[in-house]
Amino acid sequence: MQNKKPFYKKWWFWLVVIVISFFTNFVFPNQNTQSTQQKNEARSAKVEKRHKQKLAAEKRKREKAEKIAIRREKAKTKRLAVKREKLKKKRLAEKRRKKQAREKAKRRRIARKKELAAERKQKKLLVAQKKTQEKQEAAAERNSRTVYIAPTSGRRYHFDPDCRGLRPANGNITKIPLKEAISEGYTLCKWED
Ligand SMILES: [Zn+2]
Repeated sequence: MQNKKPFYKKWWFWLVVIVISFFTNFVFPNQNTQSTQQKNEARSAKVEKRHKQKLAAEKRKREKAEKIAIRREKAKTKRLAVKREKLKKKRLAEKRRKKQAREKAKRRRIARKKELAAERKQKKLLVAQKKTQEKQEAAAERNSRTVYIAPTSGRRYHFDPDCRGLRPANGNITKIPLKEAISEGYTLCKWED
């Protein structure tokens, strides 16, 4: 038997339509809703995830900035310490230099003092030598000179034959070497002293 009815006139076609319609209206809508909910959930999860990622990124950024700040602070502290150390060294060097200068000045003062003392000593020696020489010269002169005495009047000797101390002798005058006059106990006339 040949069936030439169009497909929409066949009973199973409508059954199929009804079944599809049923599924579409009562089963799939739920699924669609579920799907929409899931989608929404997924979207919100995505948004949340993105938010979390953003927060994490910000946190990372903040931590990085903090790390950099700490590193900078450390570097600064180190720089300051180095600077302080340098300053300390400089001060020590300055102190040492001053001390050395003081010691040098002291040494120089002592040397100068010694020099002056030596000079004074030398001067003293020269003066003493000169005195001795003068004494010797005076003695030599005294020994080589001749003096005048008045044997009958007084115990004085005179370098000047016209001395007023010789007047009382009335020409009774003797010329003798000074050495001899001294050895005989004559002393220098008080007018010629
Ligand atoms: Zn005299």
